[in-house]
Amino acid sequence: MTFLILSYPARVATFRQVFARDLPEVGFADDAGAVDAADVRYLMTWVPPEDLETRYPNLELLFSTGAGIDQFATMPAGAKLVRMVEEGVTSLVRDYVVMGVLGLHRDLPAYLEQQKHKIWKVGDFAWADQRRVGILGLGELGLAVANALRPFGFQLSGWSRSPKSIAGVACHHGADGLSAMLAQTDILVCLLPLTAETRHILNATLFARLPRGAGLVQAGRGGHLDQDALLAALDSGQLSGAFIDVTDPEPLPADHPLWHQPRVVLTPHIAGHTRSETAAAATVENIRRHLSGLPPKGLVEPGRGY
Ligand code: NAP
Repeated sequence: MTFLILSYPARVATFRQVFARDLPEVGFADDAGAVDAADVRYLMTWVPPEDLETRYPNLELLFSTGAGIDQFATMPAGAKLVRMVEEGVTSLVRDYVVMGVLGLHRDLPAYLEQQKHKIWKVGDFAWADQRRVGILGLGELGLAVANALRPFGFQLSGWSRSPKSIAGVACHHGADGLSAMLAQTDILVCLLPLTAETRHILNATLFARLPRGAGLVQAGRGGHLDQDALLAALDSGQLSGAFIDVTDPEPLPADHPLWHQPRVVLTPHIAGHTRSETAAAATVENIRRHLSGLPPKGLVEPGRGY
């Protein structure tokens, strides 16, 4: 019974240490060419191998190294897919989104642009309790963001697939819930998984439902956003600014107009990053759960796509 990890050397070294200490009964391998494929019960990777469907006939759990799993288009029969749920990535994404919300709340894109042109001009003020922040996705990350934003006093709302009840957050779900939330949202945060249902959800129709001058923090996946629609909404003033961490494609081509849009703060998919120490501990715990018949944390439901 072997755990095979395909990752960079420093991450492999941390996993090796944690597995040797906390899960010595499971074999550990990091070389796909050297391991006996029939022994591999657990595989962790970010990029799926081309022959994933057939290569590991006894695979039970396929772990994504990251929180997203949209890169796994096909799965070996009988194996279950597990996304990364660990406090390291959650805290980084939380911090990024708080930065983006505060940046938009305090008109940072406009002031950065003024600085470039040496313009000293004071704009309007708004207080946090006057700003409505709507969060698309109330899962692991959306909830962490809501909890982090609450102490600032923002008016919080959120949208998920299933109904939820979260203290201090107006919770919406379904198509009607989305329209209701958008109409009351000054700063929209996207923390959805990329699925057939959420692809290009951030489009011209959605932007038109937001109050004029709203802002966007996009930390989901590049495929959520219609980038042309974003540029048009910024040009028209329907949106006033955006923090964009993910694009399609990545890297964003050098000649793409998003690079030059002054109201966009663009970052190279750095909102989150799996932290090896905490991820190794979470993976050991998940294998232990699996061995004792419990579902691993972060188990992907095939019908839902996340
Ligand atoms: P999660 O725990 O699975 O939560 C997903 C949330 O989205 C849930 O609240 C879910 O609703 C909701 N949702 C899914 N499909 C929906 C739909 N069709 N309509 C309405 N709501 C829907 O995922 P997570 O760990 O929070 O991660 C979310 C995403 O963040 C990842 O999939 C990835 O795309 C992105 N991410 C980005 C970075 C980065 O560096 N930029 C890093 C990590 C993750 P229910 O609660 O009803 O199921």
